[in-house]
Amino acid sequence: MIAMSESVGGLVVPYVIARSEEIVCDPLYFYSDARWGVFLSYQRRRAADWLHGILRARVLDTSEGEPMWRQVNTLRQWRCMDEGLCQVCGREAAQPGQPMPWILTETAFHALSWRADAGDTNAPPTCWDCIPVALEQCPRLGVSAEVVTVAWREPIAVLGDLYRPGPGVGWQLPSPVQRQVYVGLDEFARHPRVLANQLVVRLHGIERGALGRRGGSLMAR
Ligand SMILES: [Zn+2]
Repeated sequence: MIAMSESVGGLVVPYVIARSEEIVCDPLYFYSDARWGVFLSYQRRRAADWLHGILRARVLDTSEGEPMWRQVNTLRQWRCMDEGLCQVCGREAAQPGQPMPWILTETAFHALSWRADAGDTNAPPTCWDCIPVALEQCPRLGVSAEVVTVAWREPIAVLGDLYRPGPGVGWQLPSPVQRQVYVGLDEFARHPRVLANQLVVRLHGIERGALGRRGGSLMAR
């Protein structure tokens, strides 16, 4: 776990941020069997690589190396979403049963057109203690933000890279098709061709103005 006090160039390094020495470059292949048809896999298969029936990108969870500010660590991002952990300090973002504080940003949050109090995000929650430092960093990272609370959340999709089998006899060698694609957990036909790197959750019961009720002020632009 990354200590809150650790900073690089004056910026706190959030728990969720990827580090240069955590990258894993295991080769990917397409395989085929009677049960699944043609599907993407690491060369040495491990059952733990698949979540929700989708191959998840392998990374280390050592927090070693330089911070990669535009990239999250897949294992830690997933853990934050699954367990409701703060993306900055890695501790529980809220007490059990309490509304969970969440910073919504333009780039990471998509409101549902048919429901005002729900939307999808790939950015994990942020605990009340870490919200000031996170908001302070948002403008410096060129991100606008709003603090809300969330009643509950559910996994709804992944973000990942889409591949197709190579041509002819080289079909087992994956060709990249598109990066950072949103693939719903119910879009089963696309699952065998995606390498997921982030879990997307749907937030329900979003209440705005949460920071005002806490007596704070919105510091992000
Ligand atoms: Zn925190």
